[in-house]
Amino acid sequence: MLKGNFEASLTYARQLDKQDDLQKYRSEFYIPKDASGENQIYLCGNSLGLQPKQTAAFINQELEDWKLLGVEGHFHAKHPWMPYHEFLTEAMAKVVGAKASEVVVMNTLTVNLHLMMISFYRPTPDRYKILIESDAFPSDKYAAESQIRLHGYDPSDALIELKPRDGEVCLRMEDIQTAIEREGESISLIMFGNTNYYTGQYFDIKQITTWGHSKGCYVGFDCAHAAGNMDLALHEDGCDFAVWCNYKYLNSGPGGMGGAFVHERHHDSLNIPRLEGWWGHNKATRFKMRDAFEPIPSAEAWQLSNPPIMAMAAVWSSLKIFDEVGMSQLRKKAIHLTGFLEFLVMSLGEELVDIITPSNPESRGSQLSIRVKNADKTLYEFITKQGVIADWREPDVIRVAPMPLYNSYEDVFNFYTILKKGLSTL
Ligand SMILES: *Cc1c(COP(=O)(O)O)cnc(C)c1O
Repeated sequence: MLKGNFEASLTYARQLDKQDDLQKYRSEFYIPKDASGENQIYLCGNSLGLQPKQTAAFINQELEDWKLLGVEGHFHAKHPWMPYHEFLTEAMAKVVGAKASEVVVMNTLTVNLHLMMISFYRPTPDRYKILIESDAFPSDKYAAESQIRLHGYDPSDALIELKPRDGEVCLRMEDIQTAIEREGESISLIMFGNTNYYTGQYFDIKQITTWGHSKGCYVGFDCAHAAGNMDLALHEDGCDFAVWCNYKYLNSGPGGMGGAFVHERHHDSLNIPRLEGWWGHNKATRFKMRDAFEPIPSAEAWQLSNPPIMAMAAVWSSLKIFDEVGMSQLRKKAIHLTGFLEFLVMSLGEELVDIITPSNPESRGSQLSIRVKNADKTLYEFITKQGVIADWREPDVIRVAPMPLYNSYEDVFNFYTILKKGLSTL
């Protein structure tokens, strides 16, 4: 089925670029070049986002202040390091649809997932299970399994991996509901990777949270593939926690810092189990070094260390762009750009390709996972040689993610032309 009022032509793609309000942002990023000096068709921002040109200046500012001020930079840098993380909070909160008090930029993703599970996976003999999706990102699965073992339970019994129906790739919402209905009383924590990294399926956070809470479970999400991609509303949707990285859709550099959301309903619970460090302690008395731990009544209470300023500068640089554009505008273009990609790919014919990502825009972000019939990795190698940067998942899936900030309609069209050529010659 062909959807949308699109046309498969370069002229048409260029026309869409001309009409695009966000087109100017492309020039604010470095687009990697191929061997002949041409721009690559970079469709891998779901794996590592591109570098904003202004990021070097953000990092250099901190190097400069460190050079000139040494330790005094904690208080006297242009952007003092003591409260540095706070400069990012408002913009970060807007990206994920939360109150500022609910969000903190800290650590890296899997670390934050563990910190959240220490607080929200609190198994008892009657209620000790974790529900996740069966093709969860490996790190999330390892984190969940090790938490289960940490508490003396056995993952083969305590980890419920929800599988799609036979012959299907995505989970049906009604099957998630049924699983929660059936097993909810023994589930301590529901934790989904959202958006799913492999299929690109987005799970309705409000819905899953409501089902989970009605059974007394905690509900959290790994939003690595949703932050900066979907127009999230974490506060409204009411999940207990969320974590994400900032280096995929959020362009803050390889291994860049993560973020965490803790719903405000948990901020005043002094006896919540938590791994604690001095950066989570009341800022007014942090340097007295003698007081008993007094948590900051916000998500900041989960901070452990004073943060890596250089890495945080890169996050700040990126968040400035997101703040300027806003998620709703970004999402509007993303839906259209992804729709154009879908239209082009489907026009190649169902006997050649099939898109495993949901076709409903509400249930997906910027990524399409394309299953190529009868393909092996030579197709992927072919398109890579032609300048396409995408992601290959054995045995037959190419994941591509056009980014509304820096990908053009022309990029998407050129990808289609190269894929078509690859399919007809291999
Ligand atoms: C990218 C990604 C990770 C990677 O974790 P790091 O701790 O940043 O290395 C983990 N989980 C999910 C769902 C991801 O998409």
